[in-house]
Amino acid sequence: MVGQKIVVLGTGGTIAGTAPSESDTLAYTAARIGVGQLVAAVPALAAAPVEIEQVLQLDSKDMDAEHWVSLAARCAVHLERDEVAGVVVTHGTDTLEETAYFLHRVLAPRKPLVLTCAMRPANSVQSDGPQNLLDAVAVARSGRIVGVVAVCAGRVHGAVEVVKQHPYRLDAFCSGEGGPLAVVEEGRLRILRVLPPDSPGRREARLASLPPARDWPWVEIVTSHACADARLVDGLVRLGIGGLVVAGTGNGSVHHALEVALLRAVDQGVAVRRATRCAQGMVLPHGGDVLADSQGLSPVKARIALMLDLMADAVTTSAPLSPPAP
Ligand code: ASP
Repeated sequence: MVGQKIVVLGTGGTIAGTAPSESDTLAYTAARIGVGQLVAAVPALAAAPVEIEQVLQLDSKDMDAEHWVSLAARCAVHLERDEVAGVVVTHGTDTLEETAYFLHRVLAPRKPLVLTCAMRPANSVQSDGPQNLLDAVAVARSGRIVGVVAVCAGRVHGAVEVVKQHPYRLDAFCSGEGGPLAVVEEGRLRILRVLPPDSPGRREARLASLPPARDWPWVEIVTSHACADARLVDGLVRLGIGGLVVAGTGNGSVHHALEVALLRAVDQGVAVRRATRCAQGMVLPHGGDVLADSQGLSPVKARIALMLDLMADAVTTSAPLSPPAP
C-alpha cells in the first residue's frame, strides 16, 4: 500500500528568491531561501506528512547535466519508498520544462513527480510560490495523476508538453494545443484530459544506464532564420559536436545554406533532428524530408531526447560517445 508522505525537494529558482524590496519583481536574486522555509511559509502544509530535502540551490537558467543527475537520483530514492505517495520539486521557471522532460525520460515514474515554481520572489507582495506549492502537494497527494507533471497558477501540465510561454505573467506555462491535463481548485483536482501515451519508438534511457554527466554527448540547438550562415554548423562539427537540433521555420523548413551544412554534418556522423521554432504544433513529416524530425518535441526537449538517444545507442553498440564539449 502506498503511504501518505509527500517529499518536497528544493532546487532554488524564483520561488526561493528574494528581492531588495517587496514591490520589486525584477531585481531579485533566485535561490536564496531553503526549501524548509518555503514549506513553513504555507501553514496549510503544517499538519500534513511532508518531508523536505534541499537537493540543489540555483537559478535554473544555470542548470547542468550534473544537477539533473543529482536531482533524478534523489527523486528515484524517494519515489521507491513505500511510505511516499509522491514527490514535489520546487524549481526555477526558466528551464523547468527541460528538467520535467529529462525526469520523465529517465525515471518514467509510476507515482506523481510534480514540479512547481513561482514567477515572483518569496518576499514579493505578489508572491505566487506558496499557492503553487500547496497546489503541487495537492496534486502529488491526490494519486489521480502519475508521472512527471508541472503545476503553476492552478494548472497541471504534462512533462512532454509543458512550455514556458511568458516571461512575466504568473500563469507563465502552457501545454500548447492540447491544453493542461487538469486544474487545481481549492485543493481539488479537476481532470481535463488524460496523459497521451509515450511517443512510439522511443528508446530506453534510464538513469542507471547513463554515463557520468561529464561524458554526455555534446548536443546544441541551431536556429534557421533569414540570412542563416553555414559556418556556425561547420564550426560546431570541427569542434566535435555530437548532435544538432535545428529549430526550423514553419513545418521544420531549413534555410538552404544551413541545410547543406547540416547534411554535411550528417555525413560526418553527427545526428541531426529537425524541430520547429513555432510556438505551437509539431513538424509533420513528409516524403521528401532529408533530415529526421523531432517527433513533436520542441527544440529544447528534442535536444534532451537526442542526447539520451545517443547515450542509449552508445550502450547498445558499445561505441565511444562523441567528444565532450570544450
Ligand atoms: N531565473 C529563475 C529560475 O529559473 C526564474 C524563475 O524561477 O522564475 O531559476
